[in-house]
Amino acid sequence: MSRHSQTSTVRHYIEGQWSDADGSDFAELTNPATGEVSGLLQLGTQSDVDRAVEAAQRAFISYSSTSLDERVDLLRAVIAEIEKRGDDLAEAVTTDMGMPIELSKLVIGSAVQSFQVLVDELPSYPFEKRHGDYLVVREPIGVAALIPPWNYPSRQIAGKVAPAIAVGCTAVLKPAELAAHSGAVFAEIFHGAGVPAGVVNVVNGFGSVVGSALSRHNHIDVVSFTGSTAVGVQVQRDAADTVKRVSQELGGKSAHIVLPDADFEAAVKTSVDGVMRNSGQTCYAPTRTIIPRAERDRFVELVRKAVDAITVGAPSSPVAMGPVASEKQWQTVQRYIETGIREGATLVVGGTGRPEGLPDRGWFVRPTVFADVSNDMTIAREEIFGPVMSIIGYDTIEEAIDIANDTPYGLAAFVDGADVEKAKQVARRIRAGQVSVNTSALNPNAPFGGYKRSGNGRAWGIWAIEEFLETKALVGAV
Ligand code: NAP
Ligand code: MG
Repeated sequence: MSRHSQTSTVRHYIEGQWSDADGSDFAELTNPATGEVSGLLQLGTQSDVDRAVEAAQRAFISYSSTSLDERVDLLRAVIAEIEKRGDDLAEAVTTDMGMPIELSKLVIGSAVQSFQVLVDELPSYPFEKRHGDYLVVREPIGVAALIPPWNYPSRQIAGKVAPAIAVGCTAVLKPAELAAHSGAVFAEIFHGAGVPAGVVNVVNGFGSVVGSALSRHNHIDVVSFTGSTAVGVQVQRDAADTVKRVSQELGGKSAHIVLPDADFEAAVKTSVDGVMRNSGQTCYAPTRTIIPRAERDRFVELVRKAVDAITVGAPSSPVAMGPVASEKQWQTVQRYIETGIREGATLVVGGTGRPEGLPDRGWFVRPTVFADVSNDMTIAREEIFGPVMSIIGYDTIEEAIDIANDTPYGLAAFVDGADVEKAKQVARRIRAGQVSVNTSALNPNAPFGGYKRSGNGRAWGIWAIEEFLETKALVGAV
């Protein structure tokens, strides 16, 4: 096996083998920082999907009856392989989506963590529990389709494969096209770690073809989908006829409530870092910053300073922000900035067009902040998935909570306030899946997922295994 390079053709990996590319169609992959072609992608078809699902079905027969100890050993082997291939994986992520290389390297840690938390917590998980005169047994549901987004490819792929194989499921992974090189390095990692043939298969190609074929497939038992709300709905529709489980981790428009007594410097950091990191392509980014109206000028000035200090440029250099991942993403961000201006928000910093001083190639955008946003403006309602922050004023804390909850989404939220008890009370009243109090960080071991249209599943930590488990009751002479 030759190692995947950043200009290779990305091929399917089915039943432990790299697929013959003869007769396949290909798409060109593009590096969003340079516009250069970075490789070719083998485009999967219905028959590739069928082959991969059959391989996963065959592997399920033996893999589902492995012991917990055997699977924990396998998770450890995958961790060792990710660590060994960390630089390759980070480079693949940067080639795929233009993530600054330092951030790509940092995210490898959270890919490892997705496996490590299961090594730590699986042994004490109640796979069998007696309730009086009956027994409840949790079993692997079967063959899983794993459909991650491209935005943090290493974390997103690890976050689905780890819980699936930890409980004894087998899987067909369809990496996002924009994360194809990352998916290819992962296939090599699973192979190198000795994951048995057929346990994890990778079929590349378009979501509308490969993703949809998986969602509709008779022999897929669960679809674990992370992506936009619109595609999540389509997956649910495609899956309906076969009554399979669909776990959805969808979009967000997260609120950050800055209480009047908050440490403003820390709060500004939470908002600006959270929105601008990864060029705004973070599902839980706190894109609605909700601040006391009386403090508007002071807060806005701090934000302006923080955003002015952000360096944008080639992801191979030590910059804070690279490009967005594709031309389509660039156009979307431009449209939303124009809409914000047209609907009357105050442009504090940034705006349309390319950042000054950069060459005329690559999908670079200007980190942008709007103030005096009202929560019914388009930029406050819709997920932009770019580095665009909206500052919204409130007069009372009740109003702040109402604004935070007045959204179709409910993925995450942030609350800052010196009176921790009060901040916690506010956090409890926000309808979102994970709420951070006085920190910009989320907890990768705590459950993560959406209320409302942000989804119906929970990922991260030990919680992620639930979507891959069935529940069996043993009754009678048990
Ligand atoms: P997306 O366009 O919805 O795509 C997600 C995945 O679905 C990709 O692998 C895509 O493949 C595939 N897909 C596309 N059409 C499909 C179809 N008809 N059937 C099955 N699969 C299909 O989302 P994205 O642009 O990759 O990612 C950004 C979105 O993900 C944002 O909305 C963000 O908030 C959300 N997100 C949510 C979370 C969370 O945990 N809640 C985390 C990260 C991101 P192709 O792209 O190859 O076509
Ligand atoms: Mg997409």
